[in-house]
Amino acid sequence: MKNSIYLTIIVLAVIISGCNKQKGNINYRNNPEPLYTNAYIRLPLGTVKPAGWLKSELEAQAEGLTGNLDDFWPDLVNSSWHGGNGEAWERGPYFLDGLVPLAYLLDDERLKDKVNKWIRPIIASSSDSGWYGPSQNRDRWPLAVANKVLMQYYEVTNDTNALNVLMKYFRYLHSTPPDWPHKDWRGVRAMENAVTGYWLYRQTGEKWILETIESIQKNGADWTTYYEKFPWDSTAAAEKKIPHDGTPEGMTAHGVNNAMAIKYPGLWYQQSKDDRFKNAVYSGIKKYDLNHGQVAGRFSCDEHLAGNSPNQGTELCSVVEYMYSLEELYEIFGDNRLADRLEILAYNALPGAIAPDIWSHQYDQQSNQVLVSAAKRDWSSNGDYSNIYGLMPNFGCCLANMHQGWPKFVESMWMATNENGLAAVTYGPSVVKAKVGKGKNVTIAEATNYPFNGLITFTISTDNSVKFPIELRVPAWADSVEIRYKDKVVSFKDKTWIKLTEKWKNGDQIVMQIPMNLRYERRFNNSVAVSRGPLYFSLRMNKEFKSVKINYDNFGYKGSVDWEITPLSPWNYGLLTDMRIPMRGVSVEEKEIGKLPFSDRGDMIWSADSGKYIASQNDAPVIIRTRGIRIPSWVMKNNSADVPPLSPVSPEGDPEIIELVPYGCARLRITEFPVMDITLMEEVIK
Ligand SMILES: [Zn+2]
Repeated sequence: MKNSIYLTIIVLAVIISGCNKQKGNINYRNNPEPLYTNAYIRLPLGTVKPAGWLKSELEAQAEGLTGNLDDFWPDLVNSSWHGGNGEAWERGPYFLDGLVPLAYLLDDERLKDKVNKWIRPIIASSSDSGWYGPSQNRDRWPLAVANKVLMQYYEVTNDTNALNVLMKYFRYLHSTPPDWPHKDWRGVRAMENAVTGYWLYRQTGEKWILETIESIQKNGADWTTYYEKFPWDSTAAAEKKIPHDGTPEGMTAHGVNNAMAIKYPGLWYQQSKDDRFKNAVYSGIKKYDLNHGQVAGRFSCDEHLAGNSPNQGTELCSVVEYMYSLEELYEIFGDNRLADRLEILAYNALPGAIAPDIWSHQYDQQSNQVLVSAAKRDWSSNGDYSNIYGLMPNFGCCLANMHQGWPKFVESMWMATNENGLAAVTYGPSVVKAKVGKGKNVTIAEATNYPFNGLITFTISTDNSVKFPIELRVPAWADSVEIRYKDKVVSFKDKTWIKLTEKWKNGDQIVMQIPMNLRYERRFNNSVAVSRGPLYFSLRMNKEFKSVKINYDNFGYKGSVDWEITPLSPWNYGLLTDMRIPMRGVSVEEKEIGKLPFSDRGDMIWSADSGKYIASQNDAPVIIRTRGIRIPSWVMKNNSADVPPLSPVSPEGDPEIIELVPYGCARLRITEFPVMDITLMEEVIK
């Protein structure tokens, strides 16, 4: 009976929202007034699907941990979120936050059955008060994650029961006193609720939802002032003054909190429309890069902010959370720098920390990672097991939370524009089936080997010709792009967006060529990182994989999934590179790409025959050959490569040809290289 009353309320609310003033797209809801009209509109889950190698990556996830973890990890097997008597906090919702989109992006019935096994009890747990989830949990934090799960579930199923649970919970938040203590996760991450809150407002137009979000913004941790002042700078890191405790100050130095919170002022900007909050986002990103920046788009977070030395680590949770923050921020601001960064994280830091078969992951990844082992390292506060590829190295949060990375990235590759068109936000093999113009269905298939190659072909399928704009992002690293469509060839320079408004007919193609030029970037101690397109490149090393069972039970999984990796070839090279002429003395080889998952290339793969990880028969997708000279004095310190010696370095030995492969394909790597003093070696690299 109660359910039917709530259903009626929701149906009425949805109808009312039709009367609510909303600018922009008529097919997909942007923010109704009084909120800011966002730059773009995220498409409902399932509108964008993966293709090519990206689909294989998601299939590997389905065959790996995401598709199997809840069959053997006690925290999920016995989870109180689906009626067990075990873990009742964040791990169930974290896992579902990746499982739900993965199941529906792959249309995988086995995974959908798993989703239902979890979602039914969650929906049934909704109480008269509006609270939901396991009865023994009274902490609002895991519900902030579960909210996002129900939001996604509703988008693909239209199950109004899920919407109903969320409406009741937001009513609960609206009618109860604020409970957002700044020393607890629920208070530090309070604005995570705003993601679902604004989504609910777009669905229903109910004004009290905005009052709820305003209360959360005012009573949760103040990240805006934090980004303006940014107390944890390089000096604080060097002087070891960054707190590692559970005080409100310590919580602001916690890396994953930072990765999540960078979107909070941006979320609030939708309601406040005050530039102070927008500026805080950009200020925060800039300060991360300046003080804690790492290659692959990351900032150091081993568990806390730790400066920008390339031997510091970055926790996998912070990679997937930073990605999600950028996806949300992009929708609001439509700033291509945010999408550039999102691609860099997705195509470097994400595969870099996960084994190709997606059965093991690192808690902390490093730019200069020359030994993966259980040993003490210079982490700010993490344990000795943090950089092994394992089932649950260090804490279990990443094992629960890593699953959202790829699926949510795919979801956000395309967005709707306010002119009833579509925007290609990030590139990769994908298919979008969406409504454009006055409600016409179109499909755009994006065929590409991006990020390994810059050629992208979009093919449009439509029953009838339809006029609508297609917007194509121009990455900031691209000097120019060339577009061919409808017998036209156009080159663009100094553009951030290309908008093609045409009457598109079935079979029309747009061919985009983004030049993948080599770039050098100055890093720690004047070292250099090499990148090409959105990919960073790392020294390829010979290595040995050793199965270990260190500190953590493999929970009955049939194979061992904990691995140490030791180098079998030297790593202490300086680059002999002419920074003024990037390609001088350098060659680039692109290999056949095919449909192999990104990371299943040129590195470790699981051999069922021998029961261990062996070198992959599939070479790296792109190989850069250049010259390096060994620097004998550059050695290990505390089980990591010591910081690179200050460049330029005087050459002592003979140049050798060295190979660089994508960061995401290199389980061991040097990515921040010292550079040799080229003035002493002009003859060699002619
Ligand atoms: Zn984690």
